Amino acid sequence: MHLARFPRVHFAHLPTPLEPMERLSKELGVELWIKRDDCTGMSTGGNKTRKLEFLMAEALEQGADMVMTQGATQTNHGRQTAAFAARLGLKCHILLEDRTGYQDGNYNTNGNVLLDHLHGATTEKFPGGHDMPAEMEKAAEAMRAKGHKVYVIPGGGSNPTGALGYVNAAFELVSQANDRGLKIDRLVHATGSSGTQAGLVTGMSAMNSLIPVLGIGTRAPQPKQEQMVYDLACKTAEKLGCPGVVKREDVMANTDYVGEGYGIPTASGIEAIKMFAELEGILLDPCYSAKGAAGLIDLARKGAFKGERVVFLHTGGAAALGGYDFAFDNTARWVTI
Ligand SMILES: *Cc1c(COP(=O)(O)O)cnc(C)c1O
Repeated sequence: MHLARFPRVHFAHLPTPLEPMERLSKELGVELWIKRDDCTGMSTGGNKTRKLEFLMAEALEQGADMVMTQGATQTNHGRQTAAFAARLGLKCHILLEDRTGYQDGNYNTNGNVLLDHLHGATTEKFPGGHDMPAEMEKAAEAMRAKGHKVYVIPGGGSNPTGALGYVNAAFELVSQANDRGLKIDRLVHATGSSGTQAGLVTGMSAMNSLIPVLGIGTRAPQPKQEQMVYDLACKTAEKLGCPGVVKREDVMANTDYVGEGYGIPTASGIEAIKMFAELEGILLDPCYSAKGAAGLIDLARKGAFKGERVVFLHTGGAAALGGYDFAFDNTARWVTI
């Protein structure tokens, strides 16, 4: 499998570190490692960097002068797209869907929204439940009528081109493990628009790594999440020239940790944020990585990983924390000594 056949801009800081989490491992009685894709670079980093390397190269190849994408108000994907566009000298427009209805000031203007604007992107807000892909097509057509060459990136950068970034991440992780003689029994991460898991599963299957990948859901119910990942993995394998390499049973998602809905913090997610921050000095975000970590922690406590060496893929997202300060009660941290 030869990924260099596909156009790519090389902006990511790779390979990302693979580190042991000693204190969390001790706490949970399972050997836990972390793959630091929160350190990929581009506006604090995160999983969208790997996807955007391939997507933005395609935009350049097509002669685009503007990129357009969509996501929730605190989309990490939008923020990273804005950073890539800035570095490449392209215009960037982000359609934001209000999936939570939060009136909170910081949620609507801080965190990722602040960073979108700092990178020079324009944003436009839509009510929750809107047909965002259709809205984006409309906006793209309007800009094309004004003479722009618009490259449209789907929400989360999840299509076969974006997923190539996570095929590459699977190769990278397995080669790090091989170099160190570190046998990995399972890979766990937060899954959403599905490009990350689809790419990982395709890469792992194509290599015959035999490392199971468990996605922890952040939005959709299990059958829908698994179907989305499987469909995209099949298309990604086709793009790579190895159709049929991914089997349906290779795609596993656990959606027990979504809580009330997308972007709404959960008690177990807040606990996960505190545990990673206080035991490992690592920041998670309430929308994705905290829910992924909540699944990791709960399953570890229930003995699901007995005797295993588990790698948690940190997909990033901490840039959203400034928009979610309402979710934390830190009053007890103010003390007088
Ligand atoms: C987008 C995102 C995810 C989910 O990745 P998908 O490829 O959309 O499934 C996980 N974590 C963070 C921090 C994200 O921004």
